[in-house]
Amino acid sequence: MLSKVLIANRGEIALRILRACRELGIGTVAAYSEADRDQSYLSLADQTVCIGPAPADKSYLNMTALLSAADIAGADGIHPGYGFLSESDTFADLVEKAGLTFIGPRAETIRLMGDKISAKLSMREAGVPCIPDSGGPLPDSVSEAADIAARLGYPIIIKASAGGGGRGMRVVCRPEELAKKISSTRQEAKLAFADDTLYMEKYLEYPRHIEYQVLGDGQGHAIHLGERDCSMQRRNQKLVEESPAPHLPDDQRLKMGRIVAEACVRIGYRGAGTFEFLYENNEFHFIEMNTRLQVEHPVTEWVTGVDLVKQQLLIGSGHCLELDQSMIHPQGHAIECRINAEDPKTVFPSAGRITNFHSPGGPGIRVDSYMSRGCLVPAQYDSLVAKLVVYGHDRQSAIARMQTALKEMKIEGIKTNIPLQQHILSDPGYLKGGMNIHYLEQMLKAGDRTV
Ligand code: ADP
Repeated sequence: MLSKVLIANRGEIALRILRACRELGIGTVAAYSEADRDQSYLSLADQTVCIGPAPADKSYLNMTALLSAADIAGADGIHPGYGFLSESDTFADLVEKAGLTFIGPRAETIRLMGDKISAKLSMREAGVPCIPDSGGPLPDSVSEAADIAARLGYPIIIKASAGGGGRGMRVVCRPEELAKKISSTRQEAKLAFADDTLYMEKYLEYPRHIEYQVLGDGQGHAIHLGERDCSMQRRNQKLVEESPAPHLPDDQRLKMGRIVAEACVRIGYRGAGTFEFLYENNEFHFIEMNTRLQVEHPVTEWVTGVDLVKQQLLIGSGHCLELDQSMIHPQGHAIECRINAEDPKTVFPSAGRITNFHSPGGPGIRVDSYMSRGCLVPAQYDSLVAKLVVYGHDRQSAIARMQTALKEMKIEGIKTNIPLQQHILSDPGYLKGGMNIHYLEQMLKAGDRTV
């Protein structure tokens, strides 16, 4: 078993990992930036190390500082959480070269999945259904690219192979826009990712976002833990997630689960991961794999009863997966609302000191948050301040519970998106379920809210 884990992250996910380590008897080192020095979750760690000033590139993204902190504290593993360095193959490599365990997949798996062209090629080979695409890098010649677009049929989307975070993508609706959009995407890709390799795929107009959670031990075993529907998005940011996905036929749900678990075995996948799909006209289309824990992992934990962070720590300790597929029987319905420190109308971030925090409670309620009265929400990082997660025996009861919990939750001192979440949770389309990824923005526009 790992003896001491350095947590290379902050906020709610640092706290989540701290708790899991404690339950497993693993020692903890919490790395923090100067902006987070007074966060109360740090008191739960066995050791704390300041890794630099507030800007993320000087602290949570500073590989040298994190490796030195791990060395000084005597940690034998590093948990990267999500965001920051969690999908950096360079960091995973450096951690392993320093003789420590990176709690995540091997560096070469992260590299394979981080490149969208190679990820799709390997998944296609493993039998995972993918969106029709250019079959490899886009040629330099515009007329050849135009031939590919004509074969796929407009609209198409041009993507940077090294892209991420919603950047390096352009939708093209008409042939006459193609040359200009290829050129601007290439420029953006070169600047943002130092790699201007592009590819092209068919653009789906009204898809849902459905993703599968997997666990693999890198030793020949892998399972899936069902799916999540994350279609309620604004500006490509997920706001509400749930499991199971509403109105998805059971045979299809299970078939796709089997396919992704088999794909994990095939690539020797180690750790927790997520296969993201666009789902349209009753068909799944793979878009990418996230080789890390997701923000929305609690909904899967609730319906399956599996603690995903503990599983990550066990796998990181070299254990074989103790779970097999026959032990996974998702039950009931779980929903997560992301509570962000932002103006619900303008979406401007809202940092500051929390003057009052009241967390909802009662049966079927889970709140993952680092907040307490008097704590500071720094301006430098992601605006997520809490995850409100509920469970019900079916979707309707989970929705009723979430509506009550949102009403009960009080956060003062900063602005939050709680009013927006209340709006979504009472919207007829959301209540019906199965809406596509554009639904929320259209709904807000129709209601004359800024999106
Ligand atoms: P990133 O790695 O930047 O998150 P993704 O490939 O996951 O990029 O795509 C991000 C989002 O862009 C998707 O969740 C979806 O909303 C949209 N998108 C990507 N590819 C397509 C496509 N082929 N058709 C329709 N929408 C797409």
